[in-house]
Amino acid sequence: MLELKSVRTYYGNIQALKGIDLLVERGEIITLIGANGAGKSTTLMSISGVVPPKSGDILFEGQSIVGRDPDVIVGMGISQVPEGRRIFPHLTVRENLDMGALLRRDRDGVRRDLDYVYSLFPILAERKNQAGGTLSGGEQQMLAISRALMARPKLLLLDEPSLGLAPLIVQQIFDIISQINRENGTTIFLVEQNANQALKVAHRGYVMETGRVTMADTAENLLANEEIKSAYLGV
Ligand code: ATP
Repeated sequence: MLELKSVRTYYGNIQALKGIDLLVERGEIITLIGANGAGKSTTLMSISGVVPPKSGDILFEGQSIVGRDPDVIVGMGISQVPEGRRIFPHLTVRENLDMGALLRRDRDGVRRDLDYVYSLFPILAERKNQAGGTLSGGEQQMLAISRALMARPKLLLLDEPSLGLAPLIVQQIFDIISQINRENGTTIFLVEQNANQALKVAHRGYVMETGRVTMADTAENLLANEEIKSAYLGV
C-alpha cells in the first residue's frame, strides 16, 4: 500500500531523514519506534506532505505522492493524527468532526461515519456541543482520531497517541486502534515512544535511530529481541 524509497528530508540544513526505506502492506498495523529526535514524526510528515522530502520517493497504491499538497494526499486516502492532537479548541466536538469530512461529498457516508465514531467513543456523542478545548487530554485524543476517521482514510497515520495520557486511557486508545483496524480494515501506521504497547497491537515494527531505519521485524520478534528490550522496553 505504501512504500518509502531512500527518503531524505531536511529542516533547512538539518537532515532529519537520511535515506528511509520501508513498506506498509494493506490491512497491517505497522509501528515505528525509536528515541526522541530519531525522525519518527518527520517520517509521518513526509508521507502526509507537510514536510516534503528533498529526495527519494513515496508510493501510495503505486502512485508517487511526493510534491503533492497535503489536502490532495488526504483526498487520496491518507489521514494524519498529529502529535499533541491539535484539535480546534474553540469549535465544538461536532464541528471538529465535520472539519474531518470537509473534502467529502457523500453525505450518507459521512452520517454513517459520524455514528461509527460516536459508537467507538460514546463520550464524544455526550459532549458533541461542547468546545473541543474543554475536553480532557484523553478525550481530545479520541476527538483527534475520530476527526481523522471522518475523512474515511485507507491509511491512518498516528503520531504518539499515548503521549501524556494516564495508563487506563492509553490502554483504551490502543484497544480502539486495534478495533478500527479489525473492523474496517484500515491500515495503521503508528509512531510511538511507548514501544511496549505499540508492539503489542502492531503486526510489524521498524526501529529508527538518528534518521535511519536500523531494524525491521515482526512485532512478536521485536518484543522478544534482547537489544530492543534493553533499549526501548525498559526490561
Ligand atoms: P519526538 O518523539 O521527539 O517527536 P521523533 O523521532 O519524532 O522525536 P523528529 O521530531 O522527527 O523525531 O525529529 C528528527 C530530527 O529533526 C531531530 O533532530 C529534530 O531536532 C529535528 N527537527 C524536528 N523538527 C524540526 C524543525 N521544525 N526544525 C528543525 N529541526 C527539526
